[in-house]
Amino acid sequence: MLEAAGNRKVSDVHLRIGELTFISEEQLRFAIRLLSVGTAAEGCDVRIDPVSPEFECVSCGHISTADFSSPAFACGKCGADVRVLRGKEFSVDKVVLYD
Ligand SMILES: [Zn+2]
Repeated sequence: MLEAAGNRKVSDVHLRIGELTFISEEQLRFAIRLLSVGTAAEGCDVRIDPVSPEFECVSCGHISTADFSSPAFACGKCGADVRVLRGKEFSVDKVVLYD
């Protein structure tokens, strides 16, 4: 990604990060700052778009959003297992270059 920038500097990077990755935004920004030194992305603006989790019950199909108050991921309606629909994303949405 950074190699593709050629001689142009990166203005900003947009990331989509699901909350279920439990990645610390603070640590990620710090890592990017460190790793980008001397590259086209040095000093770029990092925009993070958090994705809140969504689950679907494998039994009744009930869709629920994050409920971190319960330790186990289970359907709030019937108690069956749920599968993750959203929240595990970790992707680069957009890289903006200076003209
Ligand atoms: Zn259910």
